[in-house]
Amino acid sequence: MLDAARLRKDFPILDRTVHGKPLVYLDSAATSQKPKAVLEALTRYYSESNANIHRGIHALSEEATALYEGARGAVCRFIGAPKPATIIFTRNTTEAVNLVAQAWGRRHVNAGDEILLTEMEHHSNLVPWQMLAQEKKASLKFIPVTPDGRLDLSSLPQLMGPRTRLVSLTLASNVLGTINPVKEVQQAAHAHGIPVFVDGAQGVPHMPVHVMDLNCDFLAFSAHKMLGPTGVGVLYAKEALLEEMDPFLGGGDMIKDVWLDHSTWNDLPWKFEAGTPNIGGVVAFGAAIEYLERIGMEEVRRHEQELTAYALKKLREIDGLSVHGPLDPAARGGVVSFEVKGLHPHDLGQLLDAEGIAIRAGHHCCKPLLRKMGLMATARASFYIYNTAQEVDLLVQAILKAKELFSVVAHR
Ligand code: PMP
Repeated sequence: MLDAARLRKDFPILDRTVHGKPLVYLDSAATSQKPKAVLEALTRYYSESNANIHRGIHALSEEATALYEGARGAVCRFIGAPKPATIIFTRNTTEAVNLVAQAWGRRHVNAGDEILLTEMEHHSNLVPWQMLAQEKKASLKFIPVTPDGRLDLSSLPQLMGPRTRLVSLTLASNVLGTINPVKEVQQAAHAHGIPVFVDGAQGVPHMPVHVMDLNCDFLAFSAHKMLGPTGVGVLYAKEALLEEMDPFLGGGDMIKDVWLDHSTWNDLPWKFEAGTPNIGGVVAFGAAIEYLERIGMEEVRRHEQELTAYALKKLREIDGLSVHGPLDPAARGGVVSFEVKGLHPHDLGQLLDAEGIAIRAGHHCCKPLLRKMGLMATARASFYIYNTAQEVDLLVQAILKAKELFSVVAHR
């Protein structure tokens, strides 16, 4: 069983204070904290094995290459991919979406074609498709979101047609917390021969995700949201798709041979990894994956679901507080957006910060969704393996204090 109190000892940053109060970090949906095992892997790599990879014939280069490719193997195992060649390292989820929009989209999407997204996509799974659609004179369609924050799949048969080239959707919403029925969408799309891209940024860090089971064609996620360093992302794709795709970025490492007027491409996965990658970051990401594997993703999910259920209950007891998104903890991840009547989310965020509590306030890079909800911003608390019920209690106490302060100000 996951013991958050014990795990916390692995995270040095959780010992610090903020404004004289113990840090309560409830912003893991933006980026997670890092355990010692990851920090040490990063330091060890730079202290002992640092060299450029693939090209070297010396010992350090061979060691660095083995560590880098070892991390690829860990990612492959973690998401149940068929082989490491289907794992491409990028800078983040955003770059993985752009890679597919450019390298796959430019070839397969033409004038009059359609790309089907949802109304709850993060800008990073929206803007790259807008750019592609604009260039190709294609159009975007959207699976609507219901008032309780779920995808309305009743419209799916009308939304998917002969011109639909791709369906791309998030596994879990970073605003509403909703876990989407991706498999159901995948089955409907595949029945029409349409490939499916899954934005796993808020899914892969928090629950078991196996690509063979999900049967998605593309999956993207970011290391920094799952205990790893910033600057490392992953694109998984079915091998046949990667084989027929052109490279995204040109340069060193992605070529087989180069002449002055043309080049030939390297094998997978290196065809998509131009230039020196974030070697140290990837190696440390491997340590993050091993850390999560030791806990077990079922346990991660169970812990977050329990904590979210507790948070939903406690938060909803606060007079004037309403939670966005589904209220059933089984239907959502550890992201809870809420509104406190009479308190602007930014003011609330600042008052909580004064108590050492880090939440996020804003549009969460989902402006179209917030517009649909009639909101400019929400306050968002998000949980991970190191968060505890006591921290939820501290959040609740601090919200009550903020409310009191504001009612005093309002009545002056
Ligand atoms: N998709 C979702 C659902 C996200 O929550 C995020 C990060 N907030 C992203 C994509 C983008 O991730 P990154 O900034 O690491 O590219």
